[in-house]
Amino acid sequence: MRKLFYILLFSVTGFTFKSIAQTDTKPKLVVGIVVDQMRADYLYKYQSRYGEDGFKRLLREGFNFKNANVNYIPSETAPGHASIYTGTTPAYHGIIGNSWYDRETKSIIENVSDTDEQLVGSVTENPYGASSKKMISSTITDALKEASNFKAKVISISIKDRGAILPGGKTADAAYWHDWESSPGYFVSSTYYMKKVPNWVKKFNRKEKSDTYLNETWNTLYPIDTYIASAPDDNPFEHSIGGKTSPTFPYNFKAMREKYKAKGTEFQLLWISPKGNTLLTEFAITALREEKLGMDDETDFLNISYSVPDVVGHTFGPQSVEMEDLYLRLDKDLAVLFNALDTNIGKGNYTLFLTADHGAIQNVSFLKENGVHTAIARTTGDARRLEAFLDDTYADASWVTTVNGNNLYLNKTTIDQNNLTMSVVQKEAANFLMTLPEVSVALSADDLKTKVYEDGMRKTIQNGYYAKRSGDVIVTYTPGTIIHPNPNITVERVKGTVHGSGYSYDTHVPLIWMGKGIPIGEAVRKVHTIDIAPTLAMILNLQMPGSVQGAPLKEFFREN
Ligand SMILES: [Zn+2]
Repeated sequence: MRKLFYILLFSVTGFTFKSIAQTDTKPKLVVGIVVDQMRADYLYKYQSRYGEDGFKRLLREGFNFKNANVNYIPSETAPGHASIYTGTTPAYHGIIGNSWYDRETKSIIENVSDTDEQLVGSVTENPYGASSKKMISSTITDALKEASNFKAKVISISIKDRGAILPGGKTADAAYWHDWESSPGYFVSSTYYMKKVPNWVKKFNRKEKSDTYLNETWNTLYPIDTYIASAPDDNPFEHSIGGKTSPTFPYNFKAMREKYKAKGTEFQLLWISPKGNTLLTEFAITALREEKLGMDDETDFLNISYSVPDVVGHTFGPQSVEMEDLYLRLDKDLAVLFNALDTNIGKGNYTLFLTADHGAIQNVSFLKENGVHTAIARTTGDARRLEAFLDDTYADASWVTTVNGNNLYLNKTTIDQNNLTMSVVQKEAANFLMTLPEVSVALSADDLKTKVYEDGMRKTIQNGYYAKRSGDVIVTYTPGTIIHPNPNITVERVKGTVHGSGYSYDTHVPLIWMGKGIPIGEAVRKVHTIDIAPTLAMILNLQMPGSVQGAPLKEFFREN
């Protein structure tokens, strides 16, 4: 029936590029779902045990871009969310990582930290406010706000602060995230958005759901021997948490939280529990109802970012039964969310997309055991070697300031004092670093500022390069080589996973759309997460976000 409708439509209209979306009124609500650290293959790896109303509903009723990718480095949470919602890369929005070295204050700073703002809605004093001020591009949510004369409502929620804040841009009505530091797991916001949280948020918090959920035990949904998509539950590739002696089910959070109580970190345990996803889903549905999203003539926007999969991934890795069970349960949470959207907004009245900020590499120790080449990037060791090389080449001095992820920062004072130019030393440093084991491509900031790379890893690096914040040399490593928080660890001892590279295991993510204006189908052409925002701009007839680089997904806008 639906197909027939489109065929009829295309045969009688004479316009070129008639938008499927524009054939009718606009959606009442756009729902953006980001799953933190979801590889594209998780859609299929666990599919046989997904229910009909979660991921499988998206595949059945939606449009699946099977080859969607992040196109910059690092593939991390903050740049991931910023890029999806601005439609551009770190080169333009400036969120070059979860953190970066700030040359002015000579310190590492976090992407959304903001000491000029305070948290609101927490219980005890917390000096750490947050905002999107460091993101220098506007978002699709900002464009929606502006087009509606700021009448459209934009609500953005997540477990992590950055997962809520960056999607909301500069003008969101609210961003809420889960606070484990200064409250018993409440959803909080910042003075950047509001003086105090609305009553419905207070009421939700007063139910003390974080407390309730932390008293539950995480058991597998199905008998544990049926988890054949994963390695055995007890394996050497996973961190043991909460004082347990093995990384195995069941996870008795009630017993575990006792150990963290004194440290004041017990509510962070919810970040590694599937109930963290459930809590977020419940909060999203409450926001939907209480803020009356999608209830008037203005299109509203709800962003939901599921952070728990990232924490579970880092801790246990993609090979774990924990990961498999987490996704089977997230699938159920999504079904509940979709059902609530159907009930409150109406099936076919909202447009929804689901994607990820980044993927992750399979546990490298597990890969190595199975014969795949993997290695650890020796970032600090390489910086020391570079220091020695520059000592030998020029003079005994302090040449390297710091290394943060792929970014290596040189000491400008030393370079000035030795009457050298930055671009020359950068080039020397990049050439030297490329001689070191596992270093793949090292590019000087000068090259990144003056050359235009068309494709490949050099382009991926350039897309992630923003001169004011990025290093003097950007260093990437061979496929299968990870940057690990402990740079001295051996491959054999790595537990869980990490992400951040420009390789497909970190960059290939799901992108599925469903609802108003979205045909049923799938495409295998390579698209990027930065294409999401310009696509929404076309569906909603909005001005593009300021520095957009992505392109509308043409599958939704047929020529006829
Ligand atoms: Zn992560």
